[in-house]
Amino acid sequence: MTGPAVTGAPAPAALPALMRAAVWHGPGRPLTLEHLPVPRVERPEDVVIRVRAAMFGAALVRAVTVGHPRMTPPAVLGTLVAGRIAALGPAVRHLTLGQSVTVDPHPPCGRCDTCRHGPAALCTARARVEPGAHAEYVRLRPPLTDHVVAVPTGVSAGAAMLTEIVACVLDATDTAGIGPGQSVLVIGCGPVALIQVRLALLRGAERVLCTVNHPARRAAVRRAGATVVDVDRAADAGRAVEADDRTAQRVRALTDGRGPHVVVEAVGRAETYRQALALVRPGGTVVGFGGCPPGTTLPVDLNALHYRRIRYIGSYHYGPGVFRAAADLLARGVLDLDPLLTHRIPLDRIGDAVRTARLTECLVPVVEPWKD
Ligand SMILES: [Zn+2]
Repeated sequence: MTGPAVTGAPAPAALPALMRAAVWHGPGRPLTLEHLPVPRVERPEDVVIRVRAAMFGAALVRAVTVGHPRMTPPAVLGTLVAGRIAALGPAVRHLTLGQSVTVDPHPPCGRCDTCRHGPAALCTARARVEPGAHAEYVRLRPPLTDHVVAVPTGVSAGAAMLTEIVACVLDATDTAGIGPGQSVLVIGCGPVALIQVRLALLRGAERVLCTVNHPARRAAVRRAGATVVDVDRAADAGRAVEADDRTAQRVRALTDGRGPHVVVEAVGRAETYRQALALVRPGGTVVGFGGCPPGTTLPVDLNALHYRRIRYIGSYHYGPGVFRAAADLLARGVLDLDPLLTHRIPLDRIGDAVRTARLTECLVPVVEPWKD
């Protein structure tokens, strides 16, 4: 992993030889804190970042507990990261040592068929934050180094780390055409849903509703600016239908009896997708944002879909330029993400990360290898 330093690279010797990192040893096994070599500047284009914030969200909980199709243990997990530049190769002209930065972890390659003919959001080229974000230092190589963005003063590392998620939601928001005068229902009350509420309001939506099935999330939903639609979940199937009817009545009562112009499903369950299609107004748009497990299916009333002119948009990732647009939103201070950063996980408590991330009151758990 280590190799000869590039001549002229700024002070690689200032980096320690070893660092602490959280290592995943396979599905269901606890993450362990281990010492690994600090990644070095080995090529002129390399950038090494001292990590201040790394995401530990629902996708990582899934990866740790049930595995990930592209991850082979042992591995350091995590892709969303923010920190300060600790070392730079001589070919990197657009960044400076000590600068606070974050990076688009999945930029489109710009060369493959998908990038050339679209949609570039589905480019399958993989770049890696090495060895993974849950470490004291990470190394970036091209093309990632071209997608590093500066984090301005006033934006926390935790908020900057969420730029990728903001970009995903921004892409969904604009693809769905959310705009002035519209009513929007967000199904779900996790961090993605709360960012969706904020972006819909920023785009001028007249009214934003958000379903809440955890009382602990009501305050956060209100603070984001949405009207709370409480969802009562009945255990048995018969009463679940009644509970759905009550939710539908509440939503219609708040949207002139017609339903929302746009419904964003931000949960990732068949049941809530069915609800989204049932609640949207005629001529409206359903955005499928929540990712379901493979093979998840849903019987759909195609007659209603056709005669009610329902538009369905599957939303995943984002196109070129959207990450920078998201970073600009954060830099302009119009999107305060700090209230979402509810739980901090120092590396020496990484063994508790899954349990912490699953707490009802936890919105965004942030792994913090360094604090400064
Ligand atoms: Zn590509």
